[in-house]
Amino acid sequence: MAPSRNERPLARSIPLGPGREFDLIRELVARWGPLAEGIGDDAAILPPVEGSVVLSTDTSVEGVHFRRDWLSPREIGLRAAAAALSDLAAMAAEPVGVLLALSIPERWLRDVGDLADGVADAVGEADTRILGGDVTRAAELAICVTVVGSAAAPLTRAGARPGDAVYVTGALGGPLSAVRAWQRGDRPAAAHRERFAHPRPRIQEARWLAAHGARAAVDISDGLVADLAHVARASGVRIVLEAERIPRVDGVGWREAAASGEEYEVAVTAGDPLDAPEFAERFGMPLTAIGRVRAGEPGVEVTLAGERVAAPGGWDHFS
Ligand SMILES: [Mg+2]
Repeated sequence: MAPSRNERPLARSIPLGPGREFDLIRELVARWGPLAEGIGDDAAILPPVEGSVVLSTDTSVEGVHFRRDWLSPREIGLRAAAAALSDLAAMAAEPVGVLLALSIPERWLRDVGDLADGVADAVGEADTRILGGDVTRAAELAICVTVVGSAAAPLTRAGARPGDAVYVTGALGGPLSAVRAWQRGDRPAAAHRERFAHPRPRIQEARWLAAHGARAAVDISDGLVADLAHVARASGVRIVLEAERIPRVDGVGWREAAASGEEYEVAVTAGDPLDAPEFAERFGMPLTAIGRVRAGEPGVEVTLAGERVAAPGGWDHFS
């Protein structure tokens, strides 16, 4: 295996000029410690990567992606970075670093340190670094995280073929169940809240899956059915899921599990069977075969006890 990107020498952060904005950046860089690399110049410099460069950007906006009364500032920061890093997992890419753009209203200034600590939690868990960013005043809190990764052979949504089996990591339903509880004015089950508040991008898991024969992948941000519909479209195939096989956390039904977004689990298709017991042993979570890829009208259908049932929809920001 190539040496980890963290074995290369650290680019040092350079001293910043005077002013309130730079005081804030100085504070963030100090909090991040060795997780911040080469901050302070006009742009970040990266040595060449092995394979392809894989890039993605993701924005979390207060009132759209999270509510302040549901989560702590640290959890909000962690979720924003984890969501962005999950898109690298979806491509079976290894993170090289992240760029962070914070739009901060006055009322959030007190909590920026906690937000930054949450970003650091996710960046540290992914064994990567913060390479730079931007801080600006704004009316609403927005956290934009751009991720840089590398992959020798990135997985895409377009690789599924008829005959493939469909797999998903982990157990689904926690985030939707937590959000529904909050919306009812209830307190979510602790395990469901944890799944919402502390997602873990499946970076190593996805790389293992790619190395063992997965040929299409997507991360579950909008919901299992909705995200697999993207794979079906991109690959020009039909995906048939068996409802009873969909892995779910305790206390949720298959519909909730199939519709739940912001899971940040990974779904893949593979031509040859994947070794689920070995995966479970290695990563401490299940890998479950949930359906098959067929030729036909691109889309996803769900069967229950062999009969076709209505598939639950997912989250669409513009509908
Ligand atoms: Mg994605």
